[in-house]
Amino acid sequence: MNILFMGPPGAGKGTQAEAIVNEFGIPHVSTGDAFRLAIKQGTPVGLKAKEYIDQGLLVPDDVTVGIVRERLQQSDCEKGFLLDGFPRTLSQAEALEQLLGELNRKLTNVINLKVDRNKLLARLTGRRICKSCGSTYHVIFNPPKQEGVCDKCGGELYQRSDDNEESVGTRLDEYINKTAPLLQFYNEKGLLREIDGEQEIDTVTKEIVSLLRG
Ligand code: ADP
Ligand code: AMP
Repeated sequence: MNILFMGPPGAGKGTQAEAIVNEFGIPHVSTGDAFRLAIKQGTPVGLKAKEYIDQGLLVPDDVTVGIVRERLQQSDCEKGFLLDGFPRTLSQAEALEQLLGELNRKLTNVINLKVDRNKLLARLTGRRICKSCGSTYHVIFNPPKQEGVCDKCGGELYQRSDDNEESVGTRLDEYINKTAPLLQFYNEKGLLREIDGEQEIDTVTKEIVSLLRG
């Protein structure tokens, strides 16, 4: 299973990925997570990515493709993977095709989580993430049992620095201009399936699982 999750920022890709990687035992490959780790570690990639992420802009393709190339070649991806947040430009999609060709692999499912733009600001500004295990919450739509504390591991919850109103506006524009055209790219390949991402989190998970079990 080589799965790709598409959808605008805040559509629920990371939330659903947590459930799907558990269900199918494949690794979650998120470029956003990879950049945040690189920033925390102060690596050259992290320093470069931070300039863009702080402004809500996409990180340049060469930097982004480089980290995905390295990640997909690791042995745990041999049994399959769930890509989340990559590709985000046509040039990244083409680089992914080339990379998968080299690895003798193909995408098996592309799932687009559909959520109306007017719902995304509230989702993103209310998002909270566990510092220890990375689980995602929402202050209203998916609150932890105890405010500020992760249900799963007791870790401290934090708000991403780019989850503010100004950055969200830029990120949504970047999505419309550069990423949304990829839906047609994957539709033409016959791979694209759509799921209503405005339903309850568990309902969305059930629909994705049943689609993947086919
Ligand atoms: P993405 O990875 O696509 O950017 P997330 O999975 O991080 O999106 O979700 C963004 C925010 O919306 C999080 O705070 C999450 O808890 C919340 N969320 C996710 N799915 C739903 C849903 N179906 N209904 C309401 N809120 C949701
Ligand atoms: P995400 O965690 O997917 O919301 O990504 C957070 C930020 O990381 C984005 O706003 C971009 O600045 C950057 N980023 C993540 N994935 C990519 C990508 N595939 N291409 C370019 N920038 C990316």
